[in-house]
Order: sequence, then C-alpha cells, then structure tokens
Amino acid sequence: MNNTVSPALDVNTIRDAFPILQRQVNGHPLVYLDNAATAQKPLSVIDAISDYYKGYNANIHRGIHRMAEEATTAFEATRKTIARFIGAASSDEIIFTRGTTEGINLVAYTWGKQNINKGDEIIISEMEHHSNIVPWQVLCQEKNAVLKIIPVDDNGELSFEIFKKLLTPHTKLVSIVQVSNSLGTVNPVREIIEEAHKAGARVLIDGAQSSVHLDINVQDLDCDFFAFSGHKIYGPTGVGVLYGKKDLLEAMPVFQGGGEMINEVTFKQTTYNELPYKYEAGTPNIADTIALKTAIDFVESIGKDLIREHEVELVKYATRQLEDISGLRIIGKANNKVSLVSFVIDNIHPSDIGTLLDNMGIAVRTGHHCTQPLMKRFDIPGTVRASFAMYNTFEEVDALVAGVHKAVKILL
Ligand code: PLP
Repeated sequence: MNNTVSPALDVNTIRDAFPILQRQVNGHPLVYLDNAATAQKPLSVIDAISDYYKGYNANIHRGIHRMAEEATTAFEATRKTIARFIGAASSDEIIFTRGTTEGINLVAYTWGKQNINKGDEIIISEMEHHSNIVPWQVLCQEKNAVLKIIPVDDNGELSFEIFKKLLTPHTKLVSIVQVSNSLGTVNPVREIIEEAHKAGARVLIDGAQSSVHLDINVQDLDCDFFAFSGHKIYGPTGVGVLYGKKDLLEAMPVFQGGGEMINEVTFKQTTYNELPYKYEAGTPNIADTIALKTAIDFVESIGKDLIREHEVELVKYATRQLEDISGLRIIGKANNKVSLVSFVIDNIHPSDIGTLLDNMGIAVRTGHHCTQPLMKRFDIPGTVRASFAMYNTFEEVDALVAGVHKAVKILL
C-alpha cells in the first residue's frame, strides 16, 4: 500500500515533526494507533514547554517584572487562539482546566448545583465516557434528580426519536459526546442542541474526541458548554478547555476558591474576579497552556480538512481489511464515523490481542475505554481499538492487519 490515497497530505514530512515516531518498541518500529487515548506531540510543542522553563519561567498575571509579562502574554495568547479555534464570541468564555473531565465536573459542581433541583432531569447517552456519566450521577443522587439515557442501536448510533421523547419540561440539561471514543460515531449534536433548547434545556458537548477531528464552531452549534482536552489534539497533558456562554458563566457560582479568582477578600465577604479568571483559582499549568497554542498552530498549519480526509481513508482502509478476518466483528458502524476502528474477535479476549500486537510494536487500546455501560449494551468485555492521527500511514494499517492475523493464529 502507499500514501497516494491522501495525496494532499505529506505524511512523511508530518512524521518527521514527531520525534517519538522514530522509536522502536520490542524490536519493531513503533506503530502508534492509540491516538484516541492521547496523541503524540510534535517537536514544536515539546520545545514550547522547554522554551518557557529555559527562557521565561514566571508566574502570570500578578508579576510586574519582564518575565512575568512575557509569560502572561504567551498564556493569554493561547486563550485567544482557542477562542478563534472553536468560534467563541469572546476569549472571556474560555476557561482553562486540566482536561475534559475537569471541565464537565466544573459545570456539574457550579451550574449543576445552582440549577438542578429535585425531580429535574438530565439526559446523557449510552455511549458516554465515564467522565460524562459519573459527575451527573453524583449530582442527581445529591439533588434527587433523574438521569435519563438515550439508547444506542446496533450500529452504534443514537436514536434521535427516543431522544425527543425523553425531553420533558423537567429536562434541565443534555450532556452529550460529539464523537464517541469507543465507536467513532459522530453524533448529530446540532439537531440535539436545537431540540434541547426548544424544550428549555441547556446543552454540554463533550468534545474530547471531536475537537481534533471536526471543525468546531460553538456559536454556530449554539451549545451552552463545550469541553475538550489539550493532549488529544497534539498538545500537552494537564491542560484543557471549558467553553461556556458568557451569561451562564457570569451567573454560575464559583468552582474552586483561592488566588486569582478573587477581586477582594475580607473575612466578612469576598468578591470574585471577572471572567474567565473567576474559574481559574491558583497558579495554572502555565507551560502546557502556552504549548497548547503551539499544538493548535501546528494542526492549523496542516489543515483540519486534509487531516480529516486522510484519517477517514485510514478508517475505511482498515475496516475493509479487518472485516475479512474470520470471526472479527466491528463494533460501531455508524454512517457518520471518524478516526477509529473498534472490534472484537470470537473466542479471543481483546487484551490478548493487544498484548500480542504490542510484541510486534503496535500500540492499540484494549478494554472498555471508560465506557462500561456501552460495553454492556453490546454484551462484550471490551474491544480492540485502533485510533488514527495525521501521522499514521496505510503501511501501518497493513502492519495492524497482519498483526491481527498473526494473533488470531496464535490464540485460536
Ligand atoms: N470524553 C471522551 C469522549 C474521551 O474520550 C475522554 C478521554 O478519553 C474524556 C472524555 C476524558 O478526557 P480527559 O481524560 O482528557 O479528561
């Protein structure tokens, strides 16, 4: 196989930007197909982190010395870049978090505590990541509210008709994943948001997987909240973003208390800082936030459209070949699907395949992918998941397919 299927994307040059792709694993060249868990980082991102520590390590916002100013400027430049990247109306609507998980929890612990009361309903789906289940479960238990679930069909798609029926005047929030990390399904979030708003509910979009593969415009979508993680978009771990509509963020109670989030503190009363700082207590993850801008710049310099086209071809190519393997079943056959292939093989545990693939230098993820209810729905212990990024090649898909053939021979 060759790279000519996606002629516009120069994969070999892209690969040169990622030092880790040169390494060997178990005596084989690394084939990294675990991008839905975390993407690898280009050298420019790694350099941005070390440049900060080598050149201008200082705390931000409060300092008046030169390095504090440089660090603050670089940190706030990321906020501006993110606002543009996701189409926010203002960079005041961009709150830095540790990742998607913290973003969702922030909403649950602030907006949720303020707005969810006894008998209210929150709708999520059967394909949610645990981080978009547990915070709502905890909140519903605390408030005596009801958690309702949109079911997933055999193809791995949500039933829109059932969703509409689940909406009632008691629905206060719909919290939904845009791209499933276990199935690759792209959910019709625009339509979901429209219906939810008609019913008077707010909508949070889990963009952990979608922000790297799809074009995001939060104003166009009209979502109320949107959360994603830097590390899945070629940026560092430990930094993520929560977008919220300004009027909502202004009305919500504070999350964590501490430095930076205050205006004035007295023992009698504390007043809070303006957006976005109201939700950013304490010294943030300065280096990684600065490097997140470098990651976004890198993605944009290549072009999301070209990257997506390439990844879609990789998914199709992998699916076609894997389907030919006797006893193999693809989990997740949605019409609108990106970035990954999940599968099971009769009479073989997914982790056994994963271990044998690792012996061949091929990194995939096996297990429940933090979506245990979804695995239960398909009545499987887990899947083998190969997930793709801009630097993956068709030869790597060939290696995966050959590896699975080999594993099946050994295990059956
Ligand atoms: N939501 C989805 C769909 C995910 O795939 C993930 C991570 O895999 C998360 C949420 C949680 O992201 P993080 O662990 O970066 O907070």
